[in-house]
Amino acid sequence: MLNNQIINWYSKNKRDLPWRKTKDPYLIWISEIMLQQTRVATAIDYYNRFIERFPTLSCLAKAKEQEVLNLWQGLGYYSRARNLHYAAKTVQQEYDGVFPATYKEIIQLKGIGTYTAAAISSFAFNLPHAVLDGNVFRVLSRLFGIETPIDTTIGKKLFQKLANETLADASPEIYNQAIIEFGALQCTPKSPDCENCPLLANCYAYSNQMIEILPKKSKQIRLKDRYFYYLFLYCPDRFAIEKREGKDIWQNMYQYPLIESATPLKNEQLIESRKWKNYLNDCNAVIKFQSKPIIHKLSHQNIHACFLHIEINKNFSSKNKNVFFIKNEDMDKYPFPKLIENHLSRLK
Ligand code: SF4
Repeated sequence: MLNNQIINWYSKNKRDLPWRKTKDPYLIWISEIMLQQTRVATAIDYYNRFIERFPTLSCLAKAKEQEVLNLWQGLGYYSRARNLHYAAKTVQQEYDGVFPATYKEIIQLKGIGTYTAAAISSFAFNLPHAVLDGNVFRVLSRLFGIETPIDTTIGKKLFQKLANETLADASPEIYNQAIIEFGALQCTPKSPDCENCPLLANCYAYSNQMIEILPKKSKQIRLKDRYFYYLFLYCPDRFAIEKREGKDIWQNMYQYPLIESATPLKNEQLIESRKWKNYLNDCNAVIKFQSKPIIHKLSHQNIHACFLHIEINKNFSSKNKNVFFIKNEDMDKYPFPKLIENHLSRLK
């Protein structure tokens, strides 16, 4: 049986990961949210720090959002942290702090989709819900030679049905862990280790030279370009920041005063802009240093960032009411996106 072969492979090859040593649905949930869009090696440190600070769901529910974002700083996709915090409060209020034990209830929580609900249901409660993530799509499409694009409704239904059938009577907890690990370590996107694969004899993609083209996707993601000009307003012991508001990337995190454009801007255009005048009160600011553009890649957009260092008088206060100054030694109290965090590290 296919699932026995994968489970057998898993028992010999699985990594020793901290979230695999628990059945606590709260801890499994934290790990699964962190592992979305984040490499395992990176997630381990964040996971350990997070559960040390918030060892239980009620600790997380009682925390301030800013502190949760602070701990998430550098991981990216910050809506994950905001949703975790929101959902923890929901469980605290609606389930008396006890994590719900059914797929139907789990999937109602904010930030939890079909994959995460299946993962928590099976890993914590051993419920028979087959997981379907990028690893599972890849393994199944190669093994069975399925060319239906995985990003279509019909493709998702087809693969979910196949994943459920493959799970069959195996232990949901072990089988789900096993097929994810198999995709992550053995049947990798590039250069899968076919020569040492226990499924080689039954693999359609291997027999038909289709490994490179499976799984298939129907569309290419079109990346949007955004141009960020950060005004690093500083005097020796302080610098200016503002909170990002609105429904956009990095919501509720902090940044330097920002002028954004859909196209590249020259310095004359920046200085003439309404936002520049608003931030700098029409004063004759001198740009002391200007970084080369840095391209910061996100899943659907490329941020072209440039940092302009502008020394200001220590009595300066911006007429933009969102801007405020913090002391250099207080910078760790504020959650910053990776782009700003990297800039601050370079300054340190
Ligand atoms: S033979 Fe290669 S492509 Fe097929 S399942 Fe094994 S590792 Fe993946």
